[in-house]
Amino acid sequence: MNQFQYVRATKPQAAIDVVAKDPTAKFIAGGTNLVDLMKRGVMTPQKLVDINRLPLNKIETQNNGLRIGALALNSAVANDAQVRAKQPLLALALSAGASPQLRNMATVGGNMLQRTRCTYFYDLTMPCNKREPGTGCAALEGINRMHAIFGASDKCIAVHPSDMSVALVALDATALVSGPKGDRRIPFGDFHRLPGDTPERDSNLEAGELITAVDIPDGPFTKHVHYQKVRERASYAFALVSAAAALDIENNTIKAARLALGGVAHKPWRLTTAEQALVGQPATEASFRRAAEVAMQGAKAFKYNAYKLRLAPNALVQALKTASAA
Ligand code: SF4
Repeated sequence: MNQFQYVRATKPQAAIDVVAKDPTAKFIAGGTNLVDLMKRGVMTPQKLVDINRLPLNKIETQNNGLRIGALALNSAVANDAQVRAKQPLLALALSAGASPQLRNMATVGGNMLQRTRCTYFYDLTMPCNKREPGTGCAALEGINRMHAIFGASDKCIAVHPSDMSVALVALDATALVSGPKGDRRIPFGDFHRLPGDTPERDSNLEAGELITAVDIPDGPFTKHVHYQKVRERASYAFALVSAAAALDIENNTIKAARLALGGVAHKPWRLTTAEQALVGQPATEASFRRAAEVAMQGAKAFKYNAYKLRLAPNALVQALKTASAA
């Protein structure tokens, strides 16, 4: 591992000032992804600003919703009584991620900012536009079975690996960030980016900006929810495809729906058109299949990931069936 300077921050503004002034500096919290990347030489920050002592780990009711501090641990959020009562989809998605040990270290902010698990991104001998812009994308003609079917570009076809973020985009969450120019709120759907010509940028955070919290508005999605994760082993594996479903059902008619897919794009993939297709429909498998067809419009596979064109709609239908039966 490269040598680096370590700084411990006790105030958010002090942490922001250091990272904003030094393009080689990074915030570190749980470190469950960053430290791996540093050990492999994929990321080489010259300075780490430890933010673990900042007062950003509360989970509280606020402004008709829940506010979850960016330093709240994934396990704490998944087990929190308010989260389980008000936003059970989030608790399910978090519990599906990583392993118990990692969930006890990883934070909400870090989960949002974790990097892709594209194997070529981690392999310093291979070209990768995300790791080293302009070098090419080894996955385009390589083993791309884990890669995107929505929103890819000819520069990068990687997917975002977070489970938690799939639930948060479905639930209309908002990220709160502080930076050198002050505070701002970023709707979750705009937080992560598609690769376009700049796949090195995963999110729309500006230099020095620190995630401080996530707001989730209260909603009717407290009962009929499910997070369906399809992976190659029962735990501690990233999603091949995942589907988040939340339904508001009255007299077997769907009043509102929130849907998103994971493992299919460079960002958690919200399915607003499919949600609209469900409103007013009976909560039946036929309705779910029609919505899944709508959800898959525009999907495009590469050589080794065509299976996702069937797996994704099937995962979505399964998530909807389980959610409606809950
Ligand atoms: Fe790199 Fe993206 Fe291509 Fe993977 S898909 S090799 S992360 S540019």
